Amino acid sequence: MSTINCNQCELEFNSETEYYSHYITAHKSSSPSIKKILILGGGFGGITVLREIEKKFRKEPIEITIISDDNYFLFTPMLPQVSSGLLHPSSISTPIRYFCKKSQFLQASIDSIDLEQQLVTIQRPFDNKVRTLEYDYLILALGGKTNFFNNHNLEKYSFSMKSIEDAISIRNHVILMLEQAAQTGNYKLQNTLLTFVVIGAGFAGVETISEINQFVKRSISKSYPSINPKNINMILISSKDRILPEINEKLSKISLKFLEKDGIKILKNTRADDADEEHVILNNGKKLSCATIIWTGGITMNKVISELKCEHGTNGKVLVDDMLRMKNRKNVFVLGDCALIKNSSQDSFYPSTAQHAIKEGKLIVENLTRIFNHKKKLKKFSFHSLGIMAIIGNKVGIATLAGHNISGISAWMIWRIYYLSKVPTFDKKLKVLIDWITDGILTRDVTLVGMIKMKKIHTIHINENIPSIKEQLISNL
Ligand SMILES: Cc1cc2nc3c(=O)[nH]c(=O)nc-3n(C[C@H](O)[C@H](O)[C@H](O)COP(=O)(O)OP(=O)(O)OC[C@H]3O[C@@H](n4cnc5c(N)ncnc54)[C@H](O)[C@@H]3O)c2cc1C
Repeated sequence: MSTINCNQCELEFNSETEYYSHYITAHKSSSPSIKKILILGGGFGGITVLREIEKKFRKEPIEITIISDDNYFLFTPMLPQVSSGLLHPSSISTPIRYFCKKSQFLQASIDSIDLEQQLVTIQRPFDNKVRTLEYDYLILALGGKTNFFNNHNLEKYSFSMKSIEDAISIRNHVILMLEQAAQTGNYKLQNTLLTFVVIGAGFAGVETISEINQFVKRSISKSYPSINPKNINMILISSKDRILPEINEKLSKISLKFLEKDGIKILKNTRADDADEEHVILNNGKKLSCATIIWTGGITMNKVISELKCEHGTNGKVLVDDMLRMKNRKNVFVLGDCALIKNSSQDSFYPSTAQHAIKEGKLIVENLTRIFNHKKKLKKFSFHSLGIMAIIGNKVGIATLAGHNISGISAWMIWRIYYLSKVPTFDKKLKVLIDWITDGILTRDVTLVGMIKMKKIHTIHINENIPSIKEQLISNL
């Protein structure tokens, strides 16, 4: 029978339970005065909270754990540039561990949250092991997932644009279409292969189609001389009578003109109702032949959020009070795309953007500081966005800054400078900058990297580290 050695005092135990009991009584590191803060989600919201806590909570007796299913923070505003091969995937992905100085990171998916017992159940991706963690304060920043509005065909036949895998898949798929188109003399087939449809004309949709448009056109001129550029069809579908509903009417019209000048066809007041392998079926009955469909039609909540026993609002988001606490749960803060935050000054709700998630994260840490300093009054959330911007073509951007509309190369430059400054570490800033500079000089790379293989490792026994043992015991009780 194998025994377990305590790595702190060298004693030997016959079972895990014996060992855990010994550990808790002999070496328990935390006491009730040590507060446990759990941060769920390593996106804009979660990482902002983590970084602010690391900065502000130097001496407080706290244990901070951040849990996310990916081991990196993804800088989504630059995601469309990965789908076009302008940026390398790793340039916009920063390991969460880089931000952890006194906190610990666990790569795991959140299975469920028990608000009554203050427990979170997580599952590790490499061995599916389930653990339960307790918390004193919970920070919920799990974002959202792509909303296909229960349309299974659209979900099956479309790419989404939410994760790094999505962006890599789109780039590979676009290259594959170009390879196939270069080898066919059949005009109809080539037309289908070279028709790229993006559904959803918000920021993500517009930036994605503009990136793919540039990628395809540049690649054809350098690497696929047999393809006639006239056969390329870039189609953007908007359910509204305009594009970019997030910006004012005037700038929306300017953006539309820029896109059309670049050869992108925009179908307004049109909905995609269905799809199959080679078509998008529109609400007006028309069938578009295409081999690429990208869906950017909005977000909904993942199961963990939608199953929470709390008040939910639009799309299942968690309704919070002005201090960003879950209603009737003073120790649970919610932020980012999974939070529904009322903007009392405008009688509306704050939009789901990275900008807002960052501001919300900062407020939450400010409020945690107040709680730890026994201050009664917490700060209310209020934020007036200074502007909004997007890249919509080759050296073309649009922006509204402090109420002014800007478009063209100046907006493009402002976008690049602003977002580069927001990339979280110096290493990644440098990588992004190098990618941008080399793209200006070199041919866009059309190497088809192919599928990424996952290797299952069954044989390695992962030794549980000390801080997690308490949590193991709690889950075993
Ligand atoms: C293509 C694209 C472009 C965008 N461009 C802009 C822009 O230019 N400007 C802007 O302000 N906003 C932009 N946004 C919106 C912005 O990305 C979101 O508003 C922001 O990411 C929200 O932050 P969050 O922390 O709430 O969620 P996210 O950043 O989505 O983070 C959620 C985190 O939770 C993790 N997670 C989710 N479920 C689980 C689970 N069950 N278990 C474990 N971990 C889980 C995820 O892996 C992720 O790390 C863009 C979004 C996209 C998709």
